[in-house]
Amino acid sequence: MAEAVCYFSPVLPFDRVLSMALFATEALVLRGHKLGETSRIVVLLTRERGKLRAVARGARGSRPRYRSALEPLSEVRVSLYGRQGADLLRLGEAELLRSAFRASERGLETALFLSSCAELLDAFCPEGEAEDRVYRLALAVVHAAEAGTNPALLGRYLEAWLLRLHGLYPPLDRCAGCAKPLPSDAALRYHRVAQGFVCEECGPASGPLLPVEAHALLRLVFSKPPETLVGDGAAASQALEAFHRDLIGAHLERDLRAPRVIREVGRGSAR
Ligand SMILES: [Zn+2]
Repeated sequence: MAEAVCYFSPVLPFDRVLSMALFATEALVLRGHKLGETSRIVVLLTRERGKLRAVARGARGSRPRYRSALEPLSEVRVSLYGRQGADLLRLGEAELLRSAFRASERGLETALFLSSCAELLDAFCPEGEAEDRVYRLALAVVHAAEAGTNPALLGRYLEAWLLRLHGLYPPLDRCAGCAKPLPSDAALRYHRVAQGFVCEECGPASGPLLPVEAHALLRLVFSKPPETLVGDGAAASQALEAFHRDLIGAHLERDLRAPRVIREVGRGSAR
């Protein structure tokens, strides 16, 4: 019997074409949920193609195929199958490059930061659109968490950069009203109408007011790698957290779950 050949690639037998991966890429696992008895659907942030979904057959059950490679924020190398542009691909191999387990072992706060990190990335990243800088940012904060950087400061770092890379962070050095330079060593006054920080003459600003320490932290965030953030920075971090929550909420038109859990846990441990 003559071998069946693929109509668009006469040199390759049809079954060979079906068994070829659409592409291979590095990825961060963002989340997953159950599918049927033994499979999972995983949401991956891939370096090559941005965020996408794939079915991981055999990921569950008594002998799960991928073991811990599909845990949230694990760094993996995957091969993906399916039609170009399909909503749902099929996961082939998933090689674990770096487990998120070592970072989450650092304690509850770091584990909560990681879940918030996965949720933020998922919310900000459009499907099927590669964003190299976002991918590198995600890796950098996860590695810094593993190295023991303060998770609250890392949270502000990730939020500020995600907002900035999506064109949503107001400039720190220029008045949004009159474009005059703003001092680098003073509090920042946000004005909602102008959607930016304003100088004294362009006030009164609606607020919030970001104190000098928060401004200093922001300057560090926008000029240094995340693992260099040291110290407690609790007051600065709190001021920025509320500000970022407003900017993120306005962009996504919803509140995120993980930051609320972190606040509730924080209140519980402060009692
Ligand atoms: Zn002004």
